[in-house]
This record gives sequence, C-alpha cells and structure tokens, in this order.
Amino acid sequence: MNLILLGPPGAGKGTQASRLMKERGLVQLSTGDMLRAAVAAGTPVGLQAKAVMEAGELVSDEIVSGLIGERLDELGPDTPVIFDGYPRTAAQAEALDALLAARGRTLDHVIELEVDEDALVERITGRFTCANCGEGYHDRFKLPKADGVCDVCGASNFKRRADDNEATVRQRMAEYRAKTAPIIPHYEGRGIVARVDGMASMDAVAAAIDAVLGA
Ligand code: AMP
Repeated sequence: MNLILLGPPGAGKGTQASRLMKERGLVQLSTGDMLRAAVAAGTPVGLQAKAVMEAGELVSDEIVSGLIGERLDELGPDTPVIFDGYPRTAAQAEALDALLAARGRTLDHVIELEVDEDALVERITGRFTCANCGEGYHDRFKLPKADGVCDVCGASNFKRRADDNEATVRQRMAEYRAKTAPIIPHYEGRGIVARVDGMASMDAVAAAIDAVLGA
C-alpha cells in the first residue's frame, strides 16, 4: 500500500503517520524530517534548505523529489509507504507519479486532513517534542505528566522547531493554499481521494483514516 497524507502544517499528518507506522508497519517518508536531518548534519542539501525552511517557503522540487527517490530505493519494492508532507506542488505530484511507476508502485489513497487555520496556529505554536525519543507534547493540550520529564523515556530535554512561530506558520499555510491544495484534483479523477475532519480528536481522526484504509 502507498498513501499520501495531505493537509496544512499542524493538521496532524506526522501524528497519524507515526501511528500507522506502529500499527500497520507502513514506513513514513517525511520530506520535512529528511530536510531537518540534512540541516542538522550540515549536508549540501541542508545548507541550501535552511533559510528557505526558516522563512516558511518551499524547498526546490528537485531536492525533495531527489530525497524521496533515494529513500524509495533504500526500501524494498513491497514496503508500504506513507508520504507525509510530499508532494506539495504540481511538479512534485508529477515527479512522484514517475518515481512510483519506475518502481512498479501504485498510489492507493490520498487522505486530506481538513482543518481550521486559526485553530492550527495555536496547535502549532504550542508544540514541542522530547529531544531524546521524539514524543510530541503541547503547551496547552498535552504537557508531560511530571514537569520537565518525558512521559515515555524520562529524558528532560525538549525541543521546538525553528519554523513553529506564528509568522512562519502563516506563511507555510499560505504556501499550502496556493501550491499544495491545487494538486488534489490531480488525484481526484482516479477516485482515490478521501477527506477526514482533522479538527476531531486524535482517536476520531485515527478511526476515520482506518475506515478509509480498511482492515
Ligand atoms: P514539514 O515538516 O512537512 O512541515 O516541512 C517543514 C518545511 O520543510 C516546509 O515548510 C518546507 O520549507 C520544507 N519542506 C518539507 N517538505 C517539502 C516539500 N515536499 N516541498 C518543499 N518544501 C518542503
């Protein structure tokens, strides 16, 4: 199975992708995570991407499609994949079609998480993660049970993304509206698009996605 999770920043794509990875063995391919790793490692791609990401703009189509192609080649042809945060432009959607076709893969589902942008700004600007295990937290909605200690692994250092501030979040949403939402019709003709209410509780969103994917 190959599926795309679509939705503006903070819609819950990463949360749902991690869950699907644990529960169904799908592999999450997040271009945002790959780019952050490249920035942290100071690779040539990271050096090119850093300022663009901090401005909330989009990294070039060639770079992200290149990263996805490399990751697909590392995985066996039968490994089921979730694309999280990719494709984000019409050119990327076309590149993905070619990358999949060349590897004998087909796209089974495109799931769009529908959300309210103002609520998202609050959701995103409050989020942080454990620097050790990656568990996600939120200033208002999910603080660690013991102050400053990760519920999962007990570590006491946390991190926030450099682009999770209001101005950058608004810019990332504008990019989504202008460049990413218009790619949905590309898939609609194939009858593989499903829409899920991303403002519902995490469990309700999970149930709605499971209903789309089937048993
Ligand atoms: P994300 O973690 O998906 O919110 O991505 C964080 C940032 O990485 C975005 O705001 C973009 O600057 C960059 N990025 C991630 N994925 C892509 C993509 N598919 N195309 C272009 N830029 C991307």
